[in-house]
Amino acid sequence: MTTQLKTRPKPKAVKTDKNSTLDLIIIGGGPAGLTAALYALRARLKVLLVEKMILGGAASTTFQIENYPGFPEGLSGLELGKRLQEQVNKLNLEILWGDSTRVKDRQVQVDGKTLSAKAIIIATGTESTKLGIPGEDKFRGRGVSYCATCDGPFYKDKNVMVIGGGNAAIEEALFLTRYASKVSVVHRRDKLRADKILGERALANEKIYFYWNSIAEKIGGQEKVDELTVKDLLTDKKFKVPVDGIFVYIGSQPNSTLVKGLVKLDKQGFIITDEDMKTSTQGVFAAGDIRAKSLRQIVTAAADGAIAAESARKYIEEKQ
Ligand code: NAP
Repeated sequence: MTTQLKTRPKPKAVKTDKNSTLDLIIIGGGPAGLTAALYALRARLKVLLVEKMILGGAASTTFQIENYPGFPEGLSGLELGKRLQEQVNKLNLEILWGDSTRVKDRQVQVDGKTLSAKAIIIATGTESTKLGIPGEDKFRGRGVSYCATCDGPFYKDKNVMVIGGGNAAIEEALFLTRYASKVSVVHRRDKLRADKILGERALANEKIYFYWNSIAEKIGGQEKVDELTVKDLLTDKKFKVPVDGIFVYIGSQPNSTLVKGLVKLDKQGFIITDEDMKTSTQGVFAAGDIRAKSLRQIVTAAADGAIAAESARKYIEEKQ
């Protein structure tokens, strides 16, 4: 039997506010939030998880995860999300589908309602960085995409470009070769940031071409994208490349607006924690990609979630 990955259904009434007896509110249903829920529920805490879009987080848009321990053949992000969901379903995780806009002390604003708990875990992850070039907004959804897994199949036998040189860009460039006839990677340096194994695979792939030391300057088209202006940073020369689709993978920004002023953030806006996932505010913990840390991976997100749940449990018990 397969489980559908849960996406946001119609809003429903939930137990809210001051009289709530919740122990823990977890904001974000990616691998960090779901793992935190798993550990907290097994500790018999009363948990509510708030998610605005889809369980599984950004990882669920990854076509193939090859570096999650214990899965030698790899597994899709969707499959991992489904398995995590099945695991928390068994423990009857309560989910509130909504947008958390603000966290203050131990209260969370969700779509205008206030929820309270003894502790809170922020696991809101990141969102794609935008190029900020002309044409990007205009052609979003009409040739400009931030998700190859979602949109790749629309580009069968087409010519696409990927912007970026990190793990995401190279993984998704490789994925796009399943459909597109040509995949060009535009990278601002002459060396990839991506893991060596991915770089080697991309360099060996005859469908993948590279524009090294180059940046995307302008996206053009009529109804949809039909060209990208590329600038060579070594010569300053600009040239127009005909293209059907542009996939942007130039990193990510933390979704931390909801805790601005509540917890300490680093310069980029990631939440600073100690190794127990404690933030600068008592009773508020953070886990996963939202945290200031050196390795953003599913395995580190899951580990963060487990630690955050355990720290929250101890915090709640000490307060009682
Ligand atoms: P990333 O590792 O930060 O790489 C971003 C890439 O975009 C870099 O190559 C960077 O160039 C380039 N870039 C940044 N700003 C740019 C701009 N304004 N114009 C042009 N290029 C720009 O981001 P990511 O690939 O999205 O990955 C995010 C995190 O998720 C990372 O920690 C990554 O390891 C993790 N991740 C892991 C996997 C995996 O392990 N399989 C898969 C996906 C993501 P420079 O190299 O010159 O800085």
